[in-house]
Amino acid sequence: MALPDVLDCSRAELDAWCAARGIPAYRAGQIATWLYRQDAREFAAMTNLPAELRADLAWSFRIGLPELVRVARSSDGTRKLLLRLDDGATIESVLIPDGERLTLCVSTQVGCAMGCAFCATATLGFGRHLRRGEIVGQLLVARALVRDEQERHEGPERITNMVFMGMGEPLHNYAGTVGAIETLTADWGVDFSHRRITVSTVGLVPEMQRLLADTQVNIAVSLTAIDQDVRKRIMPVSKKYPVEDLLAACRALPLPRRKRITFEYVMLDGVNDAPAQARTLARALRGIRCKVNLIPFNPFPGAPFGRSDDVAVARFQDALRNAGVHATIRESRGPDIAAACGQLVAEEEPRRARAHAGDVR
Ligand code: SAH
Repeated sequence: MALPDVLDCSRAELDAWCAARGIPAYRAGQIATWLYRQDAREFAAMTNLPAELRADLAWSFRIGLPELVRVARSSDGTRKLLLRLDDGATIESVLIPDGERLTLCVSTQVGCAMGCAFCATATLGFGRHLRRGEIVGQLLVARALVRDEQERHEGPERITNMVFMGMGEPLHNYAGTVGAIETLTADWGVDFSHRRITVSTVGLVPEMQRLLADTQVNIAVSLTAIDQDVRKRIMPVSKKYPVEDLLAACRALPLPRRKRITFEYVMLDGVNDAPAQARTLARALRGIRCKVNLIPFNPFPGAPFGRSDDVAVARFQDALRNAGVHATIRESRGPDIAAACGQLVAEEEPRRARAHAGDVR
C-alpha cells in the first residue's frame, strides 16, 4: 500500500506526527518550509533535519506531487498542464498570463458531477475528489515550471493569482478545497494571499456560506441564467438550489467590506443572451454587492450550443451597465489548445488538436 502523502497533512497533523515521536514542533515547521518554500522533492534533501528524522519521514510518507505529462502552449501565452495522479487519473491546470498577472487555474476533481450542459468536463462524469495535496501539488508543479522557464528567459513571471476554476466543482469537494486553501495561504505553507485566490462554484448554497466563514478567499458564482426554467435545463444543480434561493443566499452572505461576489455568465447563442434577459438579470441582482463577468461560450466537440456573437455580448453588457450593474467580458484564453473555460477534459492524447489540424497520420 502506498504511504500517505505528506502534502495532505495540515500543520496540526504534522505537529502531531512530530509530537508522537518526541520531536519538537519547530521540526514540523522546517518540514513544511522545505515542502512549500524550497520545493524539496525528497526528504533526503531536507539537510537541516537530523538524518534519523529524514529516514523516519521517508518511512512514513511520500511526497505525492502530480507528474507533469505534457505542457500545451497557446499562441496567446496560455499554458495548459496535463498532470497524472498516483492512481493514473489525469487532470489539467492552466497558466494564464495577463500583463503583470500570472493566474493559475486549478482543478479540484477528476471529472465533475454537476452535469452542466455547456461544459466539456461534465461529459466525463464524476471520477473522484482531489485530495488537499493534489490541489496544492498543482501549484507546486506549475511554480517549478514557471521558474524553469524564467531561468531560460522565456517569461518574466511568477504566479500572482489562483482561481479554482479548472475541472470539477470545488465546493462539492469541500474538504479538499478548504484544506488546500489552508496550506496555500498559511504562513507555515505557501503563504499565498487569500485576496488573490478566487473559488468559483455552480452555487452550492450551504457550502458557499461555510466557505465564507472558513476562509477569506473571493467567491464567484456561475449563474449563467436568471430564468429558473432555463437554468434548470442547463445546470441541473438548480433543481436543488433554485435561482431565487441562490440569489437570496448571495444577498444574505456576510461579505467582508469592499468585497463583492462575481457572477459568471456563460453566453449561449439564443438561450440566455437577449437584452430583455439582461434587464431581468439586473433587476434580480439589485441589492447584491456584485459584478457580472460575461463568458462567451467556448465550444467543444458535440456541444449542443453556439457562442453568442460579439454584437450580442456587447449589447448584453450595455443593457447591464445601463441598469447600473458592473459588467465585464472575459476574454477566451488558450482556445487553440482547448484550455479555455469549460474545455478541460485532460485527454492523454491530444485527439482534438490533431483532428483540427487535419493530421490523422
Ligand atoms: N465548477 C465551478 C468551476 C469550474 S467552471 C463552476 O462551475 O463555477 C469555471 C467557469 O467556466 C464557470 O463559470 C463555468 O460556468 C464556465 N464554463 C463552463 N463551460 C464553459 C464553456 N463551454 N464556455 C465558457 N465558459 C464555460
